Amino acid sequence: MEKLFEKLDEIYDEIVSIRRYLHEYPELSFEEVKTAEYIATYHEKLGHDIRTGVGGNGVVAYLKGDRPGPTIALRADFDALPILEQTDVPFKSKNDGVMHACGHDGHTATLLGLAKVLNSMKAELEGTVVFIHQHAEELPPGGAISMIEDGCLDGVDVIFGTHLQAQMPVGEIGYRVGAIQAAPDRFDIKIQGRGGHGAYPHQTIDSIVVGGQLINNLQQIVSRKVDPLDSAVLSVTSFEAKNPYNVIADYAEMIGTVRTFKEETRDFIEKEMERVVRGTCDVNGADFEFTYTRGYPTLINHKEETEFVAKLAEDVPGVNKVAETEPVMGGEDYAYYLQHVKGTFFFTGAENPEWKDSYPHHHPKFDIDERALLIAAKVLGKATLEYMKVHAKAAVK
Ligand code: MN
Repeated sequence: MEKLFEKLDEIYDEIVSIRRYLHEYPELSFEEVKTAEYIATYHEKLGHDIRTGVGGNGVVAYLKGDRPGPTIALRADFDALPILEQTDVPFKSKNDGVMHACGHDGHTATLLGLAKVLNSMKAELEGTVVFIHQHAEELPPGGAISMIEDGCLDGVDVIFGTHLQAQMPVGEIGYRVGAIQAAPDRFDIKIQGRGGHGAYPHQTIDSIVVGGQLINNLQQIVSRKVDPLDSAVLSVTSFEAKNPYNVIADYAEMIGTVRTFKEETRDFIEKEMERVVRGTCDVNGADFEFTYTRGYPTLINHKEETEFVAKLAEDVPGVNKVAETEPVMGGEDYAYYLQHVKGTFFFTGAENPEWKDSYPHHHPKFDIDERALLIAAKVLGKATLEYMKVHAKAAVK
């Protein structure tokens, strides 16, 4: 393992420069053409077999070791967000209004650096490494599902992946058996009342008043109907009904998000929402349209693979704490991979404890401590080599 760590240390500067280059040229979900080209070119130079255009802009590269063994997939996403960057870093985004504000630039740099090092250890590799570079994680339906349909998991025995965490100190690794990220759903509600003169409300059905009641009624689903020990979120994130000052709203619409961990809670909230929307609109004589759109599934880590990574992370250089993490309400389409193959998804701390402020993911001042990239590469690299060792031997028996 020392050799892996040393080789990664040697290319740390290159990993950082890849991350900074990608940070300067971010691309939005489903539009990551140049990023995909950059990734493909990197693997091409290493001599890997590659598939481009996998399920969209996805890139998959294959490194076949000289010895037989299992097939291990490592996944990194590479899309950015529609955010105008407000940091002062010298490698600030050059694409105005687009920003790597979730660390996917770091994920990609980590995986490319690791690919280079594993390639140089080809003679010792017992099995195959599949590098899954996934487009469009940020925008449902996401890139994972189409990449899986396009065969990115074919022949894969296990998958490992990580997410950098800007609010977890660098040096920490967070793991969790079972549900670690929630299922993120979306709802759209359209309220059709009857507009009219602002002075004569009795002749109208005021869509704003109906909507106001509805927002309050919806708050009661999670607070009064869901078991307090079962986490769920229902947020109305937009409510629009624009009219002149003297016109009562004919029409209003709202959108929002629901986050759950359990499938039965998800079903329950969807049904309950429909009942509340119908009831509130009926009582006011308004018409409505309610649409509930399911996003990614809950990300559920497999027990054996999660404990395997948690254990081996403990003596990775740079790691000073490996701890079970609380689940988070944010979604991740990595969830789909784990519905098909065994594996785990862990968190890599990327907060610099000396920074006065650390900003959350998706914030215009988001940044990461780049030492986290090296730690992530070492944990993923060690997981790959150890998994090969254990399972190649098992195959021989
Ligand atoms: Mn992300």
